[in-house]
Amino acid sequence: MNAAAAAERLTAALADLEDKGIRWPCKGRPEWTSESAEDREYAAAGCRFCPVFDLCAAMADETKPTACVYAGVDRTPKTRTKKAS
Ligand code: SF4
Repeated sequence: MNAAAAAERLTAALADLEDKGIRWPCKGRPEWTSESAEDREYAAAGCRFCPVFDLCAAMADETKPTACVYAGVDRTPKTRTKKAS
């Protein structure tokens, strides 16, 4: 599967969840894209409850994101992380 196909499959699955009124852990949640490493650690743990985890992991494997949390993995470089105050 290539990156575009993986992203399309994930997008379609999320649209299906939306249609069914099913929420997924990162929907509308800022922790997945937070500058705080603690927030992203919380987010990564929350991914394990996601109904599209495998599709998200496949998409991340193909697109290799360089920031934020995808499929339970924080992809943000440590140099971009803010310390909690
Ligand atoms: S597995 Fe992907 S879609 Fe699911 S909560 Fe985590 S980041 Fe969001």
